[in-house]
Amino acid sequence: MTKTLLIKNARVLVTMDDERREIAGGAVYIRDNVIEQVGSSADLPQQADEIIDAANHVVMPGLVNTHHHMYQSLTRVIPAAQNGELFNWLTNLYPIWANLTPEMVNVSTLAAMSELILSGCTTSSDHLYIYPNGCKLDDSIEAAGKIGMRFHAARGSMSVGQSKGGLPPDRVVEEEGAILKDTQRLIETYHDAGRYAMQRIVVAPCSPFSVSRDLMKEAAALARNFGVSLHTHLAENANDIAYSREKFNMTPAEYAEDCGWVGRDVWHAHCVQLDDDGIYMFGRTGTGIAHCPCSNMRLASGIAPIRKMLDSGVPVGLGVDGCASNDSGHMMGEVRQAMLLQRVGFGPDAMTARQALEMATLGGAKVLNRDDIGALKPGMAADIVMFKLDTIGFAGALHDPVAALVFCTPPNVSHSIINGKVVVRDGVLCTIDLPVVIERHNALAHQLAQAAR
Ligand SMILES: [Zn+2]
Repeated sequence: MTKTLLIKNARVLVTMDDERREIAGGAVYIRDNVIEQVGSSADLPQQADEIIDAANHVVMPGLVNTHHHMYQSLTRVIPAAQNGELFNWLTNLYPIWANLTPEMVNVSTLAAMSELILSGCTTSSDHLYIYPNGCKLDDSIEAAGKIGMRFHAARGSMSVGQSKGGLPPDRVVEEEGAILKDTQRLIETYHDAGRYAMQRIVVAPCSPFSVSRDLMKEAAALARNFGVSLHTHLAENANDIAYSREKFNMTPAEYAEDCGWVGRDVWHAHCVQLDDDGIYMFGRTGTGIAHCPCSNMRLASGIAPIRKMLDSGVPVGLGVDGCASNDSGHMMGEVRQAMLLQRVGFGPDAMTARQALEMATLGGAKVLNRDDIGALKPGMAADIVMFKLDTIGFAGALHDPVAALVFCTPPNVSHSIINGKVVVRDGVLCTIDLPVVIERHNALAHQLAQAAR
């Protein structure tokens, strides 16, 4: 038995198709989890098992978040980590994160995903790189299944503690053999390489300053052996560059290339300080970037040269980054900051609203190495979001509703459909009891902050 769903009468339907069509009065016809038809409401089937009227709404592809640390939702605005740069910030947070429990990983993933989904995101990656007290990536994967989000779970890791010249305390690092073995177990258990996959595994050592060169190289070999993607942090700020120069005698881009970390199956978070040679090399090799403007501003890391990267053919997606350095996980908010920050750095025409939306949809899909999400056209996954326009935030902006999504107050969705399933209806998450999750999340956040005292 197949199920059909029709979304019709959109004020504007943003397709992100090859012609970047925006269809007034547009509609989408879905069968099960796949888009079958896109066009004007009059031209599409009039009947379906379920019909959603999108009058006064912008309908668009679900947004793709390419960088996050969902467990950090438990450690927002920690007073000691409010005003430092990256290395200082990390040093203040590692001891708190050392007390994470499996339940904390599970509940914080539900909380972070709730915030993302309500803000327009339908696919997210998460980079979990700290595994104390029996925590496992399985704890986040379970949460994604429950809430119904398309998920790229990145198996992060740290192996070089302070005693070996790394940044993290020794008690939160793992043995490299155990890291690789667990990563392989996760790929074999959960990775779905197929089209419309809801679950993929990513091989993701945390950063060049917390793992060895050996682990970087072996991680790349493992990923390529199984055909999965690679992800890490790179060239985030000036200290990060200095560490790379001192320790490896290379720029971060040279180090990445040396370790085999370039190609269409690789994406790096931040790259704020990537030099021109690095940008051209990433463009040539199709190496992707997760741009996280709020986090970069919060930690004063700098302004990533996104305009130059896009012009050089580098695949760029957006990431909210973890909530210890954002401290918001609002995807449409990140789109807005991406547009504004490029203008601060490179002038008023450095990025338009539509270019920012494209990074958050098609850009994210490309970075995650997927061709089945990020656009509304036949054969694509049915990941669709709707934003209501007759709200105070958009009052006076309806001559260009699509640009209004980015220029005005970042909106939440009225509806979100993920893999053909209605996950948000009239602004309410249907798959979990959100007030219960928030209450438990707050209790666990309090417990975590107290334990570190
Ligand atoms: Zn990060």
